Amino acid sequence: MQIRLSGPLEHDSIVNGYGLRAVLWTQGCYIHCKGCQNPETWDPEGGFLVDVEDVKEELRKFKGQAGITFCGGEPSVQAEACKEIADFCRNELGWNVWSFSGYTYEQLKERGGAAWEFVKSLDALIDGPFVLEERDLTLKFRGSRNQRLLHLEHGTGKILSIE
Ligand code: SF4
Repeated sequence: MQIRLSGPLEHDSIVNGYGLRAVLWTQGCYIHCKGCQNPETWDPEGGFLVDVEDVKEELRKFKGQAGITFCGGEPSVQAEACKEIADFCRNELGWNVWSFSGYTYEQLKERGGAAWEFVKSLDALIDGPFVLEERDLTLKFRGSRNQRLLHLEHGTGKILSIE
């Protein structure tokens, strides 16, 4: 399986969730929010393709990380590959797993299939599009007030709490 990324894997990030985190930047987004900071990640044919197994090997080299965060682009566009990597991080590296999505939790649940399976593999989802009119630079890990930090029950996707 392959995944299309928009940038190199990162580690030791402190701005995409709690603790030191690896960050995976996916390529491809159909939401096109006004004021998006990463429009170069929209093209589903852009970025570069890598083998999921190579991503895992790279992540394995990152030491001292609390977890991984999927950023975009829109991770759910490649939900199957993201879930494969999420499960690897949880099961083999012992990391917690967060993801951003420009779709809401409810939209992803309604869509079902691979997108919802990916959500069920997460510990936290930061959901919803970036809304320029609701921009707030004081929010933790989010860009606009409509977005929510949802803590989820791994395996069921049930919302445990909302920050
Ligand atoms: S969902 Fe994210 S990547 Fe997509 S347009 Fe909105 S802010 Fe940009």
